[in-house]
Amino acid sequence: MELKGWRGCCRLAAVTIFKLKYFAMTPEKFSEINLINRIRDRFPLPGQDVIKGIGDDCAVFLMSGSKAGLITTDTLVDSVHFDLSWHPPEKLGRKAAAVNLSDIAAMGGIPSFALLSLALPESVEGKWLDEFFKGFHEMLQAHGVSLVGGDTVKSPEGIILSVTVVGEAEQNSVIYRSSAREDDLVWVGGPLGEAAAGLLLCRRKIPEDNNGRFQQLVNAHLDPEPQVNLGRLLSSTGQVHAMMDLSDGLATDLAHLCQASNVAAEIDASQLPISDAARDAADFLQVSPLDLALRGGEDYKLLFTASSDKSELLTRQIMKELNQEIYCIGKISPGQGVFLRTADQTIDISFQGYDHFA
Ligand SMILES: [Mg+2]
Repeated sequence: MELKGWRGCCRLAAVTIFKLKYFAMTPEKFSEINLINRIRDRFPLPGQDVIKGIGDDCAVFLMSGSKAGLITTDTLVDSVHFDLSWHPPEKLGRKAAAVNLSDIAAMGGIPSFALLSLALPESVEGKWLDEFFKGFHEMLQAHGVSLVGGDTVKSPEGIILSVTVVGEAEQNSVIYRSSAREDDLVWVGGPLGEAAAGLLLCRRKIPEDNNGRFQQLVNAHLDPEPQVNLGRLLSSTGQVHAMMDLSDGLATDLAHLCQASNVAAEIDASQLPISDAARDAADFLQVSPLDLALRGGEDYKLLFTASSDKSELLTRQIMKELNQEIYCIGKISPGQGVFLRTADQTIDISFQGYDHFA
């Protein structure tokens, strides 16, 4: 991991920010969780200034006064995370920034600086780059983030985009994924499964003239919107106990949150926010809308738990200040695992979302 231009301004070691989602395949088969645990075992003791090292959406470190610094990194690889045949460069630029801003949102933080590292094959054209930078700049600018450095290297094949974002929050208002409490309600910040439906539509090369019908789904995949304002507002309410963003599907991400908090969750299938467009697309694609919502990745909506009293107040406040709906989908309980309750059964769905190494 190259973090050129960064060590000078933040004295923390880069090794504390592992969210190693993507890694060159080796002959040994391992899951993403095994890989992260392996790294965690090798780097067990972060420095004194580290409040949270490996294991959350961002690493959190002490800054002067009452402030905490936040840092996160994400990598997008050609043919793994994007396909140039359908992903316009401007939207890819927006997305490369958005997925990192979403991790800052997940801690309730304010993003401030970004670094961009590019590995580019010789075949990349100047026009493609200009459009990519336009989208990247637009997304950063919309959230008041400055690009302050990065790296450029040649790639033998395919584009690799690696982005690091630094942000900040009040130390006592950072929301971790490890603080869910028994009897909390479980919430999500928007509809689920739209990006997964959009990806399937792109993969199946749904003709242009059909895209009008499914445009919001295709757009959810190509150009996700990070919920930075929602994250800040939620952290300011004092009611939210645990939070993360949804990148690998609810079944896996909620399992991470429960594991970190040492609790279980029960999700009510009938409460999952699945839009009419996603249901239409699921029907058209002959997949289950429930599968899209539970197992499809890249929703980039916030997943959070909050005490059950005053929950009406919470929904009203968010509607009033952001004109946005949030959705209660279940409850935290004692024990382990994530369970889905349907009309006729309750099943364990822990970690059944996307695994980058499965
Ligand atoms: Mg995340």
